[in-house]
Amino acid sequence: MSDSRPYRGRLAPSPTGYLHLGHARTFWTAQERANEQGGVLVLRNEDLDRQRCKPEFVTAMLEDLRWFGLRWQEGPDVGGPSAPYAQSERMAHYRTAFQRLRSAGLIYPCCCSRQDVLRALQAPHQGEDEPVYPGTCRPQPGQCAPEVSAERAVSWRFRVPDGGQVDFVDGHFGLQSFKAGADFGDFVVWRHDDLPAYHLAVVVDDAAMGITEVVRGADLLRSTARQLLLFAALGHPVPNYYHCPLMTDERGVRLAKRNDALSLRTLRQQGVTPDALRKGWSVSVGRLFGQSV
Ligand code: GLU
Repeated sequence: MSDSRPYRGRLAPSPTGYLHLGHARTFWTAQERANEQGGVLVLRNEDLDRQRCKPEFVTAMLEDLRWFGLRWQEGPDVGGPSAPYAQSERMAHYRTAFQRLRSAGLIYPCCCSRQDVLRALQAPHQGEDEPVYPGTCRPQPGQCAPEVSAERAVSWRFRVPDGGQVDFVDGHFGLQSFKAGADFGDFVVWRHDDLPAYHLAVVVDDAAMGITEVVRGADLLRSTARQLLLFAALGHPVPNYYHCPLMTDERGVRLAKRNDALSLRTLRQQGVTPDALRKGWSVSVGRLFGQSV
């Protein structure tokens, strides 16, 4: 893949907790890549999950990222031509995309388990990817999606082309191949509680904001395959992708927002400097700080 548009990258944190060193490392890579290209970096507040996102985490995330040395040219706090930069304020964009997918017959209503729908709330993490959908509510080929009454809470799934291969060349990991229907199945694009699911929101925003390269964690490699199908379905230009290896603790466990010891906030309160953190992240973070994480 190549993209001849002027470089636009993005930082897309979710304010569901304090950001940790793993986020900082990925975002730092995003910033370095944008700077190398003389490009623009956009900060997007991914706050769709009303239950888990909190205003205090939005404030904290902006503060902590700035403290760490990250700078963005567009974002919720600085504005810019693609405003608004908080997903909760972009519902009209998501609804338009949803209607396009629906009119094109590419999605169908689904009344399967709430658990599946809950998984669609958030970006999946390694080992927590949504299971391949067994196709319970999938219409037969050639059959129209059933009519749904306005009162009925259903989710909507994107019908993936069974057996179709989705290939892309990742800037870090090289050629990636995933098979639709095997590596991932029909995925939720609209949730039963009338909110867009992660994949749809991210694709709509990356397209609307003219993002040319997506830099994010390796836990989203498989999600990229799904999102490429949505880019194609919506007829949007596809960005390049660069997935960063995930930071792990001494036991090899991926850092999560619950790893308070390595939240940027805690490290900062302990007097650790961003410079020391950047020098240290090639070694095990637990060893670096002499703590068990
Ligand atoms: N907001 C997502 C997260 O914090 C990342 C989405 C993305 O980079 O596509 O996990």
